[in-house]
Amino acid sequence: MHVLIVEDDLPLADSIAQAMRAQGWRVDLSTRGEPVAASLQQDEYDVLVLDIGLPGIDGLETLRRVRAQGSVLPVLLLTARDTVEDRVLGLETGADDYLVKPFALDELLARLRALVRRHDVRQGETMVLSALRFDASARRAMVGDRPVHLSARECVVLNYLMLKTGRIVSREQLAGLVPGWDAATSDNALELLVSRLRAKIEPAGVRLRTVRGLGYTLELASPE
Ligand code: CA
Repeated sequence: MHVLIVEDDLPLADSIAQAMRAQGWRVDLSTRGEPVAASLQQDEYDVLVLDIGLPGIDGLETLRRVRAQGSVLPVLLLTARDTVEDRVLGLETGADDYLVKPFALDELLARLRALVRRHDVRQGETMVLSALRFDASARRAMVGDRPVHLSARECVVLNYLMLKTGRIVSREQLAGLVPGWDAATSDNALELLVSRLRAKIEPAGVRLRTVRGLGYTLELASPE
């Protein structure tokens, strides 16, 4: 396991890092959120532990930037306050789990192991939502028994939406996934890609919903 810890409380960061190294994990530490997005592009991490309260940009903004570049890395947020707002905001921003301080180191390690395991399983399996089946590694989608042809771009976008089923994915996140695209790519190009994808997958009983001002979410079509 290779872990990046972003935590400005150094004694806490050190004790987390020590516990992880005792498990044979490789650990890198950062006390600020700004360099994180770039670090994730340079290094192969298995999981990110991210404190919400940081000097400079906070953990939530850091997470937004990480997801905006298309990373699906498992992320566990550390928060000092257990408020519903923090939790909802954290999960909507793309966190996979969170832990409220103070916490037991053993629990943190157990949660991270579970996160990485779930992530590895999902990466290698066929994802299913209603009658839509999608095998990301083979780039193959089926609506019921019918194979559906997807372009390379549509595959990348569908893979991410399926990993995040039921959650809002921003336009920036989706644009950041598409090779050659970035946040400056026109909304029209993305809207066109999404509407093509929608036409192909919605017969499977799923809905690729536009969330005005926020982005898109893939979900089960509600029964009429
Ligand atoms: Ca902090």
